Amino acid sequence: SQLRPQRVKRTKTVCTYCGVGCSFDIWTRDREILKIEPMHGAANGISTCVKGKFGWDFVNSPDRLRKPLKRVGNTFVEIEWDEAIGIVAEQFTKIKQEHGPDALGFIASSKCTNEESYLMMKLARAVVGTNNIDNCSRYCQTPASKGLSRTMGIGGDTGSIADIERADLVLIIGSNTSESHPVLATRVKRSHKHRGQRLIVADLRKHEMAERADLFVRPNPSTDEVWLQAVTKHLIDTGRHNQEFIDKWVQKWPEYKASLEPYTLEYAEQVTGIPVAQLKQIADEIAAAKNGVCVLWAMGVTQHCGGSDTSTSICNMLLATGNVKKPGAGAYPLRGHNNVQGASDFGSMPDVFSGYQKVSSAEIRGKFEAAWNVTLPVTTGLDNRQMIHAILEGKLRSMYIKGEDTITSDANANEVEEALSKLDFLVVQDIFFSETCKYADLVLPASPSLEKEGTFVNTERRIQRLYQVFEPLADSKPDWEIIQLIAERMGGAGGWSYAHPSEVMDEAAKLTPHFAGVSYERLEGYKTLQWPVAEDGTDSPILYADEKPFALEDGKATFWPLEYVPPSEQLTDTYDLHLNNGRALEHFEQGNMTYRVPGINAITPEMWLEISPELAEERGITTGRFVKLESPYGQIRAKVLVTHRVEGRQMYLPMISIENPVNRLTSSHVDRTTHTPAYKELSVKMTPLPQQ
Ligand code: SF4
Repeated sequence: SQLRPQRVKRTKTVCTYCGVGCSFDIWTRDREILKIEPMHGAANGISTCVKGKFGWDFVNSPDRLRKPLKRVGNTFVEIEWDEAIGIVAEQFTKIKQEHGPDALGFIASSKCTNEESYLMMKLARAVVGTNNIDNCSRYCQTPASKGLSRTMGIGGDTGSIADIERADLVLIIGSNTSESHPVLATRVKRSHKHRGQRLIVADLRKHEMAERADLFVRPNPSTDEVWLQAVTKHLIDTGRHNQEFIDKWVQKWPEYKASLEPYTLEYAEQVTGIPVAQLKQIADEIAAAKNGVCVLWAMGVTQHCGGSDTSTSICNMLLATGNVKKPGAGAYPLRGHNNVQGASDFGSMPDVFSGYQKVSSAEIRGKFEAAWNVTLPVTTGLDNRQMIHAILEGKLRSMYIKGEDTITSDANANEVEEALSKLDFLVVQDIFFSETCKYADLVLPASPSLEKEGTFVNTERRIQRLYQVFEPLADSKPDWEIIQLIAERMGGAGGWSYAHPSEVMDEAAKLTPHFAGVSYERLEGYKTLQWPVAEDGTDSPILYADEKPFALEDGKATFWPLEYVPPSEQLTDTYDLHLNNGRALEHFEQGNMTYRVPGINAITPEMWLEISPELAEERGITTGRFVKLESPYGQIRAKVLVTHRVEGRQMYLPMISIENPVNRLTSSHVDRTTHTPAYKELSVKMTPLPQQ
């Protein structure tokens, strides 16, 4: 062989992109990536998608941050770590002394490890003394977790990815599964084709899964809650609900039944545009799926002012039909980032410690205070969105943003820029110089997943280990080491002497019932655990399996009555087009990593705007024409693609541009319950730009 075997290494890792959590061996020679070899990972078997297989060259990009950077006027100069950590500790301490601990805010990263999310919350709570900590699940999946925790108690998928394959019926709502969660979509495609599994898709856009579906419905924007409630009412009215399951396991049945009164099929047709016949067909398909119904949903549901309520209506329907507690059934919000589930699970949230243990509980606080030997803050902290507004109100003076390009990923980018520019002191920690770094006083160079040890949690609550492949590039450091350096320099309250992330996990396991039996030994190699994990190591592929109680007070689930509220953004004479947005297969989010992979960049080098043939004809626009898109909040330019995937005045923009991010257009409207931005409620006007 040409290869010199002693330099060739294979290391097990977990994909850094989406929440499916594919794991595989990565073959390397020095810093060169030779190949990816799937090895029967628990979530993916031997499959990967294009990103997992080819999307790793960003690790060696010349754009990587190599040294800490300090702002001097309008430019940045390289400094040593010792000086950088000294500046952070000094500024955080000064701001805390002058304005109190709640003048500081912390954003953890859904791309970082569980251990790093745990340490970020420990830094915020134990060292600084604030609960102002959040992560990007606020931008995507918090409403789904809210729907689940309201009705069943735990904000996690109720079963496993393998269960989806076993279902008789899969219902996909507001999820472009084949592009956003490709390997999971493959399982549905396989089961649909070979096992006769039925597939229903509800979406604004006819994407690949919609093309394959037995039934595709296109509800009006922000109306999913209405058809879900109407279909559930119709099932109940025709006696096809599961009364035995309800009597045994679910509270508030009379209240819920009464709350459904307005949701007739005719009302649902009027609001959603889905014909009564199709609503009845959905109900028939659900009733016929004797072995179980799995509902998959994503940001097409959650990123609305009613995102939590629509997620709740999905849970209500599953409870009414008894589609929980058994294999081949259940609720599957599909988590976006590789570790968006873990970042929340390990406590980077303003109201809970690790394992969703409430900050408001004196007993829980007491447990952490005893372990960390500190006094902890009592009041719930600010979430991401509230932090931005608190800066504008002069209440928040400093932020530490880790692994998050807040400007391109939060809604209403112009407002976010205005806020960040007002901070007294901003630290941004990342692997590249992002848009957010431009507003930083200090930029800290972090290491991507291949340069560190740790664990991630995928969409099915599966905890998996990743092993270090490369040494950190140049002077970059793993995030957990940087957090620890800052904590130590600030006095080290809570105890900071971790030599390895496994020690962080050991501490989290001791303090968190969900992770009681989690250890690096039990996660060795390709071994995995789905939380909750009992002390003896027994894990939970199905939450609430069989006779296991739900995680609400009396062990029962509860129906959650809802009242539909129409969307905040409506089409007007000026802003007369609806702009939907989402992912594309080849890129991840705005493409910070994937545009730096030459092979991927060659396939999909730029963003496009999908418009319908009807709209194209009305406006005299053809594919390839550049247009300006404007909303009341900002403007961008995009290149048109005329396609039947969208219909009428609906348009679709993949969010894969750093220069023209969709968030220049999005508003500050948020989900009424969780403050997740309503990215999908967006009215715009389109003006063709002069032909080039
Ligand atoms: Fe990675 Fe998701 Fe693709 Fe799997 S499906 S390889 S986790 S991006």
